[in-house]
Amino acid sequence: MKPEYEKLAAELAEAAGKFYRLRYQMSNGGNLSVRIPGRSLMMVKGTDVAFDEVCSRTLVITDFDGNIVEGDIKPSKEALLHGAIYRAVPWANAVMHCHSPYATAWAANHDLLTFATHHSEMKLGGYVPVFDTHSYAVPKEYFPEILKLFEERPEAKAFLLRAHGQVTLGKDMREAAYLAEQVEETAQIAALR
Ligand SMILES: [Zn+2]
Repeated sequence: MKPEYEKLAAELAEAAGKFYRLRYQMSNGGNLSVRIPGRSLMMVKGTDVAFDEVCSRTLVITDFDGNIVEGDIKPSKEALLHGAIYRAVPWANAVMHCHSPYATAWAANHDLLTFATHHSEMKLGGYVPVFDTHSYAVPKEYFPEILKLFEERPEAKAFLLRAHGQVTLGKDMREAAYLAEQVEETAQIAALR
């Protein structure tokens, strides 16, 4: 990987490692990515890579259709959704997707995340819907419905996927990761009320 990408790779490795330790993403599911500044490219986790294995060797640079530009590993199946988000949402430079337990449990039988604190309501833009995409990786036909959320609600930052997990968007990976922690904390508090 080019030296100019090493800093971004380190940011992804730090966020993924933290989520693995927090048990927000176990095994080799989940995905995370960042936009390559000024290019129609992204750095994304390889397929079959666990969050505690994310490093420059297990990340790959692709275009927004998931075609490899640099790297030796196939991108995650969820890369297509990340690319569609970067195309449609110009302010988003990072996407975190994990199968964190409370958020996923909440999505099983609710259509919206309930804000248990004023803080989470403010941070998450007041609206986190659940999409039911009937698959382990979001199929393309559901992309328009998901992208409409960010068109209609510019303050939206996150959504849940029924029987799957959560997705957050940030201006950088630090923000996307903190928002995912916020989603998980909010779902946990909501579940305990
Ligand atoms: Zn997933």
